[in-house]
Amino acid sequence: MAGPQCRPGTLRRLGIAHAGVCGIALRAGSSSGSQRMKYLVLFAILAVVFGVWRHRREPVAQQPPRAGNPPPPQDMVACAHCGLHFPRADAIVQHGRAYCCADHLRAGSL
Ligand SMILES: [Zn+2]
Repeated sequence: MAGPQCRPGTLRRLGIAHAGVCGIALRAGSSSGSQRMKYLVLFAILAVVFGVWRHRREPVAQQPPRAGNPPPPQDMVACAHCGLHFPRADAIVQHGRAYCCADHLRAGSL
């Protein structure tokens, strides 16, 4: 026997696939198997169509967005005090030695 979900108003709202399942439940005791097979075939076709549609969609979704050419690599230097590697553009240079911050410049020049 069908549950309370399979009332006619509910079938209209839930769509074709669920209606097929409810149709099977309503006809479980009947001798007519062709109605059941009709819904099973319909459900199988919908599942195959959904699988093909998803398979074709996935490669498009997995492509990373292209943002032109990648930026050129930056020249890196090591801090003379702590050894941290950082871009040369951010370095504080004194007497030919590079420092990562003003504190290490002071500590390195002592
Ligand atoms: Zn440092």
